[in-house]
Amino acid sequence: MFRKTPLEAWALQKMGGNPGKAGSLTRALIESYQLQKLRETLALARDRSPFYRRLLNDYPVERVKSLRDLQELPLTTARDLSQNPLLFLCVSQDRISRVVTLNSSGTTGLPKRVFFTPGDQELIRDFFHHGMSTLVQPGDTVLILLPGQLPGSVGNLLVEALGRMQVRGIPHGFVRDPRETLEIMVREKVDALVGIPTQVLALARWRFPGQKEPPVRVKNVLLTTDHVPRVIVDDLERTWDCRVFNHYGMTEMGLGGGVECEARAGYHLREADLFFEIVDPVTGEIVPEGEEGEVVFTTLTRRGMPLIRYRTGDLARFLPGPCPCGSVLKRMAPVKDRVEGRILLSGGGFLSMSMLDETLFKINGLVNFQAVIYSKGGTDCLEVRIQTAPWAGDEMPKLVERALLSLPVIAENLCKGTLTLGSVAADDAGELWRPVKRMIQDLREKGGTAHERVV
Ligand SMILES: [Zn+2]
Repeated sequence: MFRKTPLEAWALQKMGGNPGKAGSLTRALIESYQLQKLRETLALARDRSPFYRRLLNDYPVERVKSLRDLQELPLTTARDLSQNPLLFLCVSQDRISRVVTLNSSGTTGLPKRVFFTPGDQELIRDFFHHGMSTLVQPGDTVLILLPGQLPGSVGNLLVEALGRMQVRGIPHGFVRDPRETLEIMVREKVDALVGIPTQVLALARWRFPGQKEPPVRVKNVLLTTDHVPRVIVDDLERTWDCRVFNHYGMTEMGLGGGVECEARAGYHLREADLFFEIVDPVTGEIVPEGEEGEVVFTTLTRRGMPLIRYRTGDLARFLPGPCPCGSVLKRMAPVKDRVEGRILLSGGGFLSMSMLDETLFKINGLVNFQAVIYSKGGTDCLEVRIQTAPWAGDEMPKLVERALLSLPVIAENLCKGTLTLGSVAADDAGELWRPVKRMIQDLREKGGTAHERVV
């Protein structure tokens, strides 16, 4: 039996139900709450945000009478946000307490800026508090491998949220030297980690000279990023004999989007603050329930900068049916790829970072890699650079090459002569690469992608 996700009682309370009454959260309550909040958000955005005033001009908010009616409204893109973020504001700038600047991975090159009021930041703390109670309990110590120095940064908000349940959060920042981080884990008696998959993997795969066993173990791990390779989850659980929970979120969502329960069967979505849809990335139409498409969300409770039908660029699907934990909160399967992340090879077939992740991270001793594809004499050339644990042998590039050849789409393109593999370069400098969005870098002739055309 799995304990029901604590997000259910939290959602019930936010939706005006009685948390003391077991099982009283229903889909009907969630949907009527979401419709009411949606209408409030649409009215706020239309009245206060110059961007949405123009966009919603032809779509009277009064016409939205059901959650399904929302699909009549246009989508908001990352490009809209980067072009003029100030036009999204619904409050004066002096009421903004935190601005996050995100370097765009898209084609505009302009950074995106996301604004939060003190109230919007409180929503984040509150979600972190209840989401984290899935995996930690009072008295635990959590090492946070995310930026946390600045007030309002993700690590800082998480420390404050954990403090509300007598859990000690230590903001650490990204891992650079695994040895140093492991020493902190031993010294501070860390029970749980929050971090990015490849960074946590680097810690789990680290051994001091002559050691076979890991120098330290943790009980629980929360991995947070756009996509979590299954092979990394399995490796962490095996190495540390721990539980690994996935979290889905992005800054535009207000950091948190959903977190797995003890059943670890998909993220339970943050339905009290966000309304999610899955759309066809080419047509923008809603896909049938359970089918894969692009994740789109609308904020329900944000005041500074609400977002309506915002395209995340992430591909995922809803999981129909009840969760083994018994919660009625909607679930989403782990995000696999980005809409722009599936690369069409010139000889046919798609290659994506998640395919490379699942294949390459099986190699023990590999801690990270980057992949670039470019044109060379009319054919595609794939180049992979790897980062390895210091104890890993010289044969790592060979093992990676062999693993690449085991992928059918790569083997087929090599046979046809439409793809060549560059030599695999290894970096064993010891300091971990700074985390970036995991994408194959496509340097071939730039053309419009399906994702861009819909806009
Ligand atoms: Zn569940």
